[in-house]
Amino acid sequence: MKRNMILTLAALLLAALNVAASTTPVLEVDLRGPTRPVHGSVVKAPGADGKTGPLADPLGVLRKPIPDKLVVLTFDDGCSTHATYVAPLLKSLGFNGSFYLCTFNSFTNKNWYMSWKQMKEMVKDGFEIGNHTRHHTAGAGIGPFLDMENEMIRNGLPKPTTQVWPSYVPNTKTFADLASNQYIFARGGHFRAYRPTVDNPFDIPSVNPKDMKTFIRDVKQAANGSVVVITYHGVPDYEHGFAGCDPKIFKEMMQYLKDNNYKVIGLRDLAEYIDPAKAAKLPPTR
Ligand SMILES: [Zn+2]
Repeated sequence: MKRNMILTLAALLLAALNVAASTTPVLEVDLRGPTRPVHGSVVKAPGADGKTGPLADPLGVLRKPIPDKLVVLTFDDGCSTHATYVAPLLKSLGFNGSFYLCTFNSFTNKNWYMSWKQMKEMVKDGFEIGNHTRHHTAGAGIGPFLDMENEMIRNGLPKPTTQVWPSYVPNTKTFADLASNQYIFARGGHFRAYRPTVDNPFDIPSVNPKDMKTFIRDVKQAANGSVVVITYHGVPDYEHGFAGCDPKIFKEMMQYLKDNNYKVIGLRDLAEYIDPAKAAKLPPTR
């Protein structure tokens, strides 16, 4: 009895399938559900086309995606502690960083600043020595940068390709001159993370944490396409103590980056991820 019922049902099913096969457009039911395009439009996640949304890159600035936990270290003013304390510590951790040279009219003690010999040793170790103008000129035109560059080359250092604006004051009129003199990146202030597809590469935002609490808050911003660029001065800074960082705190900061698997690079190393010529077409950083 039961077996007969199953056979009957099977026969009915076969008959139904034959009908369906002989009249093709019978299956009008939309099996694709609510994701089916409406009126022919294609629904994509924001940013999926590279032109809209938080990860948009309409100018094609990125050479490859920015990984999370990417940190750039920059050290201003050519302080002696960059050579005696910072560089050896970074080397021991497998980190890189960029060191920016300037001259101050207020220089009072030569021993408080790096010597050409020390800087040449740092270059051999793979560190970048960059340009911070002659006379620490805020909002400088190209002149004070070229003066510093010429002095660096005369003293046996490689031609610098990145610079940092003295006192965080950029001069947008200098951007084109920097590009034509083979500069690829310049760092400013703004005190927030750097968004490579939004911010101008000649005024890259940076943060300046002084204690562990702000440091951890700041470096956690290195995610979702943003890079955290940190500005330091001397560690410590003998001439401008207020700007310096305590060596013990600095060591703790670097250890935090190591323990939490951050990638720590110099400013010029951003060219691995960012095309400087394309990025230079972005509007001035706001
Ligand atoms: Zn400075």
